Amino acid sequence: MERIRFGRTDLTVSRVAMGGIPIMRLSKPEAVRLVRGVLDLGVNFIDTATGYTDSEEKIGEAIRGVPRDNVVLASKSPADDRKTFLQHLDLSLKRLGVEYIDLYQLHNVSTRKRWDAVFAVDGAFEGLMEAVRAGKVRYPGFSSHSVPLAIELMKTGHFSSVQLPFNCIDTEAESVAVPLAKEIGMGFIAMKPVGGGMLDNASLAIRYILQYDHIVPDPGIERIEEMEEIVNLVNRPTPLSEEEIKQLDTLRKELGAEWCHRCDYCQPCPEGIHISSVLSVKSFLKRMPLERAYQFLNESMRKVSSCTECRTCVSRCPYELSIPELLKKNVQIWDKAIENLNPSMKG
Ligand code: SF4
Ligand code: SF4
Repeated sequence: MERIRFGRTDLTVSRVAMGGIPIMRLSKPEAVRLVRGVLDLGVNFIDTATGYTDSEEKIGEAIRGVPRDNVVLASKSPADDRKTFLQHLDLSLKRLGVEYIDLYQLHNVSTRKRWDAVFAVDGAFEGLMEAVRAGKVRYPGFSSHSVPLAIELMKTGHFSSVQLPFNCIDTEAESVAVPLAKEIGMGFIAMKPVGGGMLDNASLAIRYILQYDHIVPDPGIERIEEMEEIVNLVNRPTPLSEEEIKQLDTLRKELGAEWCHRCDYCQPCPEGIHISSVLSVKSFLKRMPLERAYQFLNESMRKVSSCTECRTCVSRCPYELSIPELLKKNVQIWDKAIENLNPSMKG
C-alpha cells in the first residue's frame, strides 16, 4: 500500500485511513478482528473520537502488541474548555492503551460559537497545546463541517491537519480548502469519502478522491471486504474515465437536491429542530447500531412535528434544499426503521 507524508508532519500514512464510527456496531471480537485485518492490508492510519462510544476501546484492544510506530492514531474531543478537553484526551489514551496519540483533533469546529469557546482563555485549544508540549499528542488538528470556517482555521497556522467532508457529491472543499492544504502543507483527511455510507459505488467515490495525492480518505467500514475493495483501488490506481465523470455529474444532480452537507447554516430553527441530524438519518442508520441511533436521534425526529414550515431555514441553506419536505421524508424513513425496535431498547 502506497504511503504518503501527512502534510508537513513526520507521519507517514497509508493512502487511505480507517474511520472508527461503524465499529461501534460490532461486537468487541468482531471489531478487533476487523481492525487487525485492516492493518494486515497495509492501512496504518486509524481515525476515531472520544464521542464514538467504545470505538477507541476496541481499537486499543486490536493494536495491543502492535509496535507503536506501525500505527498512526488519530482521535478527537468535542470539549469546549481546557479541563474537559484534557479529561477526554486522558480517556482516549487510556482506552487506546497508548502513551501518546499521533493526531488529536478539536472535533467539529463548525460554528463561530464553538470557535469562540475553544479559543477562549482556558479553552480547549490551550489544552491541546499543553498536551502537545507534554508529549501526549504529537500533532494538533481539527475537524469541521463548515468549509469557510475551516479555511479560516487553516490560515491561523495553529494546526497540522484539517478534516472536512469531501466526496464526489460534497465538493464544497474542492476549490479552496483542498489546494490550500497542499500549499501550506497541512494533512487533509476526507471525512465521509463514500458519503457516510450513502454512495453505493465505492470505486467511483474513492477514485474521485485519489485524484488528489495529498488527501487521505477515511472510510468507515464494518466488513473487511469493504476495505479490501478500497485497498485494491489504491493499489491499482485507475483514473476516472470520461464516461465515469459523466456518471458522477448525473449522480450529483440526482443526489444534490437531497444531500445535506451538515454545515448547519440553516440554524437556528425557531422551533429548535436539529435539521442536519434529521436529514442524515440514512447515514446514521447505516453507521450506528439501531439502539444507539435511537438514543441519539429519536428526540430530534419527534421534534420535526413542531415544524411550522416558516421556511427560514430554506432561505439560509446554500444548497437550496427543500428542508420542510425533506424533514418529513426522513421522519418516514426513521419511523419505518424503528418500527420493530424492541420496546425495552427504547427505554
Ligand atoms: S421551516 Fe421548519 S425546520 Fe425550517 S426553520 Fe421553520 S420551523 Fe424550523
Ligand atoms: S439543510 Fe442546508 S444549510 Fe442545513 S445543514 Fe443541510 S446543507 Fe447545510
